Amino acid sequence: MKAYNKINEAVLVSLQAIVGEKNVVTDADKLVTYSQDEVTDSRYQHLPEAAVFPETAEQVAEIIKLANRELIPVTPRGAGTGLAAGAAPIYGGIVLGLEKMNKILEVNAENMYMVVEAGVKTQDVQTAAKEAGLLYAGDPSSGDNCFIGGNIATNAGGNKAIKYGTTRQQVYAIEIVTPTGEITELGGLLNKSTSGYSLEQLVIGSEGTLGIITKATLKLIPLPQYKMDLLAVFPDAEAAIDTVFKLLKAGVDPTSLEYMDNGAVKICARYLKESLPHQQDGNYLIITIETNDEDALDDKAVQIDEICNANGAIATLVPDSKKIWAARKAFGDAVREESYIHSSEDMVVPVKHLPHAMKEIAAICAKHSAVGRTVAHAGDGNIHLNILQGDIPAEAWPTKIDEILEELLAFTYRIGGKMSGEHGIGSKRAKWMHKFADPVQLKMMQAIKKAVDPNLILNPGTVFLME
Ligand SMILES: Cc1cc2nc3c(=O)[nH]c(=O)nc-3n(C[C@H](O)[C@H](O)[C@H](O)COP(=O)(O)OP(=O)(O)OC[C@H]3O[C@@H](n4cnc5c(N)ncnc54)[C@H](O)[C@@H]3O)c2cc1C
Repeated sequence: MKAYNKINEAVLVSLQAIVGEKNVVTDADKLVTYSQDEVTDSRYQHLPEAAVFPETAEQVAEIIKLANRELIPVTPRGAGTGLAAGAAPIYGGIVLGLEKMNKILEVNAENMYMVVEAGVKTQDVQTAAKEAGLLYAGDPSSGDNCFIGGNIATNAGGNKAIKYGTTRQQVYAIEIVTPTGEITELGGLLNKSTSGYSLEQLVIGSEGTLGIITKATLKLIPLPQYKMDLLAVFPDAEAAIDTVFKLLKAGVDPTSLEYMDNGAVKICARYLKESLPHQQDGNYLIITIETNDEDALDDKAVQIDEICNANGAIATLVPDSKKIWAARKAFGDAVREESYIHSSEDMVVPVKHLPHAMKEIAAICAKHSAVGRTVAHAGDGNIHLNILQGDIPAEAWPTKIDEILEELLAFTYRIGGKMSGEHGIGSKRAKWMHKFADPVQLKMMQAIKKAVDPNLILNPGTVFLME
């Protein structure tokens, strides 16, 4: 394991000189907040020695230079909504929070872009775009809390990725502070570029290991004029999942194509104290369509209705959109209410293998007598399986969940999938990278890390281990 130094009094004084006393937190009670993200398992929580809150990229750069001189690890943190323990400082040191860099710097409706600091909430980006008559297409379910910098660092997906792509497709350029403390802008206001390596794309999704994102220039697109949500209810989970590929093949071009199994529907209804359509036995496909032509929207709705009914749906409704999306977005909280300790998984598989994958996942959970709740960004083949600790005794849980995960991931890789579609590897999945990632590719990733971060200062232990 890499040996880092502890933060001593002199380092604290230097940090205070860079960001001001009010922006350095060392009080143990307050540091607890920065020891974890949304991963509830205490094995993935680690107390930092200090949390610092810079207000400019120059301050970030000074902190990073100091950390290199003193050999102190730095963990960048957005809103802490991550589901991979990527913002948990596993070697202690400094948590560098971006929450004070929260300004929308420019909304340029004429040229369809927006410039924001990294700590702006995603929802505020969406709202500002809408107020300018445009769309920011990134839409993670955590949008009312997470930060745009966190979305870029994790290449967040979400509910509209099937149509508009993940966060990397929404970004023109990012300003970063490198792991050695230089400030640079990667990318540009360009629609194409083959001018050396696409460094912005390398940093996007690197989970704070290759640079600290301080500013981003985001793409805005025209707002579609017409939109409709449909809810197809299937008594049979397999039939629901089988329908996903059929809808895609038929060219319905959904903006969202989300799946909730009946267990998920039930717990979300209970959590929200709402009654949801067919909640007793329904498995859901939530399908959103958008067009610029009202007749075309109706035609698509009819086509979807026909495909779903032909494949076993008992109803295809125009639901109360607010209620249905609230239910879908409540999944994480509903699972947490059911079993505080759980393992939140994020496998992605080729869409054509989704039916097979869902069956195998259910079989693996059943074999281990574990309860799993499942939703999916089904159109992307991205499965959110939450495995509950439930009745599994606390002392047996770490071994049991590792056994289950090893089987699940082995299966996922066998069918051409990967362990994370959007939440990232974080520190939670790093050990599985060493088991399942292609060794040549892992070596390339480690070589890149070492080349740009020779002291291994930035978020060590996230994505993979370096020892
Ligand atoms: C209820 C719920 C729903 C969710 N739904 C979705 C979803 O639909 N799609 C999806 O993709 N994710 C989803 N997530 C996961 C999470 O919200 C995303 O990963 C989000 O992008 C994290 O943003 P954050 O600001 O909270 O980052 P954090 O959790 O603070 O950090 C995440 C990672 O990014 C790094 N990081 C953060 N900011 C920076 C920065 N400025 N520069 C460099 N590195 C940085 C951290 O070091 C860490 O490795 C959900 C989470 C919850 C709790």
